[in-house]
Amino acid sequence: MSLKLYLKDTFNKELPADPILENSRRQVRNACFSYVAPKKPSNPALIHCSPEMIEAIGLQESPKSKAFLDIFSGNEILTNTKPFAMCYGGHQFGHWAGQLGDGRAINLAEVEHDGQHWALQLKGAGETPYSRSADGLAVLRSSIREYLCSEAMFHLGVPTTRAVSLLLSGDQVLRDVMYDGNSAYEKGAIVCRAAPSFIRFGNFEILAAQEDTSTLKALVDYTIKYYYPHLRKPSKNTYLKFFKEVAVRSMEMVIHWQRVGFVHGVMNTDNMSILGLTIDYGPYGWLEDYDSGWTPNTTDSTNKRYRYGTQPEIVLWNLLQLANALFPLIEEAEPLQNILKEYQEEVQVAYLQMMKSKLGLFENDKNDASLIAELDKTLQLSETDMTIFFRRLVNFKSDSNPDDLAFISEAFYKSEEIEKDIKAKWINWFSKYADRLQLESKNDSERKVLMNKVNPKYVLRNYMAQLAIDKADEGDYKLLEELFQLLKKPYAEQPEYEKWFAKRPDWARHKVGCSMLSCSS
Ligand code: AMP
Ligand code: MG
Repeated sequence: MSLKLYLKDTFNKELPADPILENSRRQVRNACFSYVAPKKPSNPALIHCSPEMIEAIGLQESPKSKAFLDIFSGNEILTNTKPFAMCYGGHQFGHWAGQLGDGRAINLAEVEHDGQHWALQLKGAGETPYSRSADGLAVLRSSIREYLCSEAMFHLGVPTTRAVSLLLSGDQVLRDVMYDGNSAYEKGAIVCRAAPSFIRFGNFEILAAQEDTSTLKALVDYTIKYYYPHLRKPSKNTYLKFFKEVAVRSMEMVIHWQRVGFVHGVMNTDNMSILGLTIDYGPYGWLEDYDSGWTPNTTDSTNKRYRYGTQPEIVLWNLLQLANALFPLIEEAEPLQNILKEYQEEVQVAYLQMMKSKLGLFENDKNDASLIAELDKTLQLSETDMTIFFRRLVNFKSDSNPDDLAFISEAFYKSEEIEKDIKAKWINWFSKYADRLQLESKNDSERKVLMNKVNPKYVLRNYMAQLAIDKADEGDYKLLEELFQLLKKPYAEQPEYEKWFAKRPDWARHKVGCSMLSCSS
């Protein structure tokens, strides 16, 4: 089956392949991937596709064509391509988990268009040698979440993998959503996602764990050649520069997450992209009421390892695992440790800069860090909607009266709580903010323009995705389309969509899929 795409496979052409061709579960050694064909879906149907991504990958055919349906559902294999699953390991919840790998992602091909390189991957297209005890499939619920969120993140300006298409497979998939013995059949779905590369920290870790230094070197050299080419020829020094750039990119990614209130939920090292992209949208969630201790992932509810407030630290922990994996090629701990130390310093600076931009503060003042720390505390005294709070903050002018909280009251979930102590603390904070604004050279309207570029009006609130899922389950995709369109312009006012600029409704407070998410997908 052919499609008009400019193919440029590199990963499976330049890196060592697993010689075994049968689709059996196994431990793979001395290889970066295993060849595997997608499962034929019983009755595939296109639900949605991203017109921007169809264009970006240079596809000439209509996504409504039979050829598109066949290739993007895994029903047929694109001529001159050899689909494969990647081998990787990872640290999950702080522990080495051994070989993981693409258990249900199958890489179709790499394509080039307009000077951009894209790896195309089907998620939910069947078993691979890395499927372990699972079925290689994905359900509609989690596929909608990945599909909508990856495009929404892109439009928010957050580095991310992208989504090309969302299809029904026509197969039924058995899942126990809350792991409580209540399994049920759900609609199977397949997302085609795209990124320059899907290589993760875990791809390097597995090779280091296997003490396979030559394949490790091949993978690092490959990654630098295609994705960090400005670092030039392989050498110890180049590897250190590579590690530094991965650290910086990962830091930028996590600071964006903190800015928009995104909580990944499963920051295991197998879910850390070597390109600093947000990858693997599973039990992620968006902060509704600002709470640094919140995690959407019920599997993590005891330790809350991956809660919002610790995400930048977890990136550091994950970078340490990557440093360990790269060590055999560098053989010196100190320069790697120095890069980790720099991360610790730079992430503080980056966080401060980011938070200042949310507050519209562009000059420097020695008290900025404490002003922000105090805001972080005050926001958590009662439930306060993060998105609404920051979006409405522009209405506080340099000559506003700090005693008058009316302009921000819609951000409070229980405004009756904003009295006495809590009110006094807010007034106190706004007084300091008012004083601080006096140091700014930008006027109120200039500040407003800049603040509205970093404080989104619309994010994919957890309950919004759930509403689209409920409708899609009934075969109605209008809401999915509406959210897809809305989230293309998260910083624009879009008055026609004002209803999505609202606090989480009460019914969603403790609902599965809205505030509680599991890894079941
Ligand atoms: P995740 O927590 O989704 O990042 O997945 C962790 C590992 O489990 C990865 O190796 C996945 O490919 C694998 N995995 C997750 N779900 C499935 C599934 N339904 N079938 C096969 N492998 C899976
Ligand atoms: Mg994963």
